Amino acid sequence: MFLGNITSTPMSSEPRNVEMLILGSGPAGLAAALYAARAELSPVVLTGLTLGGQAALTHTIENYPGFPQGVGGAELGELFQKQAERFGATVEFDSAHTVDLTQRPLKIETDNALFLADTLVIATGASPNHLNIPGETELTGRGVSYCATCDGWFFKDKKVVVVGGGDSALEEAIFLTRYATSVTIIHRRDELRAGVILQKRATENRKINFIWNSVVTEVVGTDKVESLKLKNVQTGEESALETDGLFIFIGHTPNTQMFEGQLEMDKGYIEVDDRMNTSVPGVYAAGEAADSHFRQVITSAGMGAAAAIEATHYLESLGQ
Ligand code: NAP
Repeated sequence: MFLGNITSTPMSSEPRNVEMLILGSGPAGLAAALYAARAELSPVVLTGLTLGGQAALTHTIENYPGFPQGVGGAELGELFQKQAERFGATVEFDSAHTVDLTQRPLKIETDNALFLADTLVIATGASPNHLNIPGETELTGRGVSYCATCDGWFFKDKKVVVVGGGDSALEEAIFLTRYATSVTIIHRRDELRAGVILQKRATENRKINFIWNSVVTEVVGTDKVESLKLKNVQTGEESALETDGLFIFIGHTPNTQMFEGQLEMDKGYIEVDDRMNTSVPGVYAAGEAADSHFRQVITSAGMGAAAAIEATHYLESLGQ
């Protein structure tokens, strides 16, 4: 992520009036910022804790058009940011914690300021799910990880386990073979959810092996991961597996808790119409906060652009 221009939100006791506030700096938030900036709304993007969102943690993105050789996730985030800033967007290192969407302007309290916004784009993304098993929390950062790009290097010449059978699990398992001597994928069924290209690449990779119909029931270790307890869900048989690391890729939960009771939601995902309108006029949602289905960089960016275009029309209809 391009840290050069990111400022901290100035501490201010005075509320800050903005035409558009964007929560989140992933593809959805920064695409919204680009379109809003070009419409001269001077959007302010609050990065949240994960600069660039989940995409920035992805080693290589191979399916974003315009990059035939692929592009690093962090590099793509940096390009998005620079392009939005070129037209007048401001990116600030800050997080919202409380919103009041019943008032006009909309009230958004952040760690550093109180914003009064005419429009709000929620692009807060999603966070990785946990297994919620003994040892997982205690050994996070000591062998348990949710990000191969961030932590893969620490497992050079070591053995690691990946849990999950979706695109993320296979993509990250393949990435981990750069470092690890072996990568064991543990999946709770005997059929993968991941797409065929990734399935082919994973099954053909000599460093990757699979344990089917099994779940991890405990992470064992004192100050680092030493082994896992496994259970075969068909036979009930329990076993132990020595490993240096456990990477968990079992889906995500949208970061939308602060909007509960204020916006219509479905299983935590903010409900939007085909123009990214939420149930409150002037409030839009884009990317994984609102999308449980596609969850791609390109679809998130498209939703962000649509949200900004719709917000521009909304402000025009109010005569602003
Ligand atoms: P996902 O598709 O929801 O897959 C989650 C996997 O974790 C599934 O295999 C699921 O098993 C397993 N799982 C869930 N809860 C579990 C638990 N408690 N214990 C053990 N296993 C559990 O999530 P994802 O892989 O993160 O992908 C999310 C979306 O992003 C998808 O739409 C995917 O296509 C997209 N994506 C695309 C790419 C790409 O195009 N290159 C890369 C990454 C992600 P079951 O299969 O049994 O349900």
